Amino acid sequence: MGEKLNRRHFIAAAAAAGAALHSSRKVFAAEKSSAKPALLGGTPVRQGAFSRWPIMDEREDKAMLEVLHSGQWFRGGAPKVTAFENSFAEMMGAKHCIATNGGTTALITSLGALGIGPGDEVIVTPYTFIASVTSIMFHFALPIFVDIDLETFQIDARKIESAVTERTRAIMPVHIGGNVCDMDAIMAVAEKRGLPIIEDACQAHLAEWRGKKAGTLGTTGCFSFQVTKNLCSGEGGAILTDEDSLAEKLYAFHNNCRGRSTTGYLFRYMPTRAANFRMTEFQGALLSAQMTRLEEQSNRRNENAKYLTELLREIPGLMPAKMYEGCTRNAWHLYMMRYRAEEFAGLPRAKFMAALNAEGVPCGGGYETLDWKAYLEEAFSTPAARRVFPERTFVEWGERCRLPEYEKLCQETVWLGQTTLLGTRQDMEQIAEAVRKIHAFAAELAKT
Ligand SMILES: *Cc1c(COP(=O)(O)O)cnc(C)c1O
Repeated sequence: MGEKLNRRHFIAAAAAAGAALHSSRKVFAAEKSSAKPALLGGTPVRQGAFSRWPIMDEREDKAMLEVLHSGQWFRGGAPKVTAFENSFAEMMGAKHCIATNGGTTALITSLGALGIGPGDEVIVTPYTFIASVTSIMFHFALPIFVDIDLETFQIDARKIESAVTERTRAIMPVHIGGNVCDMDAIMAVAEKRGLPIIEDACQAHLAEWRGKKAGTLGTTGCFSFQVTKNLCSGEGGAILTDEDSLAEKLYAFHNNCRGRSTTGYLFRYMPTRAANFRMTEFQGALLSAQMTRLEEQSNRRNENAKYLTELLREIPGLMPAKMYEGCTRNAWHLYMMRYRAEEFAGLPRAKFMAALNAEGVPCGGGYETLDWKAYLEEAFSTPAARRVFPERTFVEWGERCRLPEYEKLCQETVWLGQTTLLGTRQDMEQIAEAVRKIHAFAAELAKT
């Protein structure tokens, strides 16, 4: 406990020091780095680690022990999951929240409650965590990919309408990295074509579009609380909706077709396909505790990300993902950039990332290009699937889903994770310094 408190004070002190440094930033940033990169035998810019994750203190201890000792580990008739659902709905500005045991099952439940099934088409981005796609395939529906916008890394909303056919049953925008899709354009197409929107907001806790929370703009909004996410409980998820009757269907779908009860255990079967995707009381209690820090952590990520973008602007060759004008708040689950090797003396991306990691700045290349056609064809190769999707389905799919921008993006991306943004301004200066060193010695690094 003492150690945790000290750490908090340390962070506050370091933040103040970072603010002081800020005044001399221009000079600091304009200097061409002469220090050698760590990969060439120099001293790494950073010795210490970034923020640990998940973050916890006595609030979590108390919450977990309370559930443990109460013996009420299951949500039926117990208070914790319901309390979390109520406070999450309130924080987000949604009428209903249904907690689930994961983000994937939140998506599966949304698609199921909206009646999406075999042979239906759902429009989605290829640049996403695979669960956006597998949740569609779970219902024997066909994911139809619309290419991405290289500037923002999000689905290119201008290309959605031409992908709509008479089989299209939903649009699934994914707010990748916590940045927000062009929701004005997406809502306009959905309205025009009479399609529901299932927002995959699994990376976008507290992100906003024109002041409204991501996950409250669509017909449903799905969240993940898997341990790497900005709000977490190991595993967990939630669905938001403003529609009363849909909320009842969502609840029944995740609860083996048993409808919601306000008076205890109710055997009211709703005639729907269903499963058990319920959240446990442990997860509910943990999330309520974790949620007390969400706003503050989001603000810190936001401030650090903005500062980092300012610093990186002065170094050619790294292009942070842009936000649409309507994105009034980014959740910064990922700090996503495109790397242009030609600005780094031809240094390949893999070597750039190795050099940045060696400076003590953990980074990765993000989602890798997948041969989606081969993947779909194989995954849907069972006799049952072939009755729904005959061979020609995949030929047509390949003609419709051409994804040159996605393929380019996968080759160029460099990511920093959300915990990198939880530290101080000085941390951001060190990240920029590491990039500057690599830039200055790029030709030498390319020879290694
Ligand atoms: C994490 C994630 C999911 C799936 O959530 P789980 O809780 O891991 O099942 C879905 N979509 C996106 C974009 C995600 O990042």
